[in-house]
Amino acid sequence: MPFQIYEADAKSILSPVSGFLAQAGFTHSLTPARNCTFGCSYCYVPTMRVHGGLRKEDWEHWGAFTTFKTNAAQLLRRALKPDQVIYCSPLTDPYQPAEATRRLMPAILEAVIAAPPKVFVIQTRGPLILRDLDLLIALKARTRLRVSFSVTTNRDDVRRIFEPHCVSIEERWRTLRSLSDVGIETSATLAPILPCDPEILVDKAAAFSNGPVIADPFHVRSEKPSGATTRSVAAAICARHGWEEWLEPEFQREVLACMRSKAVTLRRHFGHGPAGFGLLALS
Ligand code: SF4
Repeated sequence: MPFQIYEADAKSILSPVSGFLAQAGFTHSLTPARNCTFGCSYCYVPTMRVHGGLRKEDWEHWGAFTTFKTNAAQLLRRALKPDQVIYCSPLTDPYQPAEATRRLMPAILEAVIAAPPKVFVIQTRGPLILRDLDLLIALKARTRLRVSFSVTTNRDDVRRIFEPHCVSIEERWRTLRSLSDVGIETSATLAPILPCDPEILVDKAAAFSNGPVIADPFHVRSEKPSGATTRSVAAAICARHGWEEWLEPEFQREVLACMRSKAVTLRRHFGHGPAGFGLLALS
């Protein structure tokens, strides 16, 4: 998908967290850009609208462009404190396709290396993270670094339908292995859980990562009356393909139970919701 890249100075770079991330134990979030050029059909971010720091053009054209916070590293150098537990990023993927061109993350990682917080978690699905492997290795010597890598299904046909601009599932497993092989703490984040074989997905997650397995189903309004939720585009895809049960809370609970049981047999920590993401925030 063609996309545009814009740049703008931000007023601040670390945001104190509330809600889900605060419950999980994070203190701050770091979002290097506004809008995300992966443009996933289910992304909850555009449903947050102004509450996610977005402008109308962002939620109306999700994925069509991104606006990098040009002064992110400069701001970060002044904002970092040793007691912070930072999640990067809840509102965009730090290794989105546009990052290959703009290269904001190396300077951000250098700033974090220079003034390390207590915990630094990178949430991504982009193999582009391997470009910065040397910096990640340097960072893990300075703080509790975790890479939480999104893998949403074991089926690449399903992946292509819901997230056509993301890399294949196989490439994501390979990326996780490359990170794990150099001693970086890694988690496979199975979120949102797309139509899949839950046992195979957990089996692969345990094989290719070295940390807890974290999962979260689609957000649905009956379970989550307010706040961020799954985009309607994903619900329409489910309806078109006969996958509506993946949006039903009872079915979602069964899938999570199946995943947990598989993780237990593999002696791997498993969690979902804030408690699951809380496994990433532990110091
Ligand atoms: S990668 Fe994450 S932030 Fe970006 S569009 Fe997909 S779900 Fe949203």
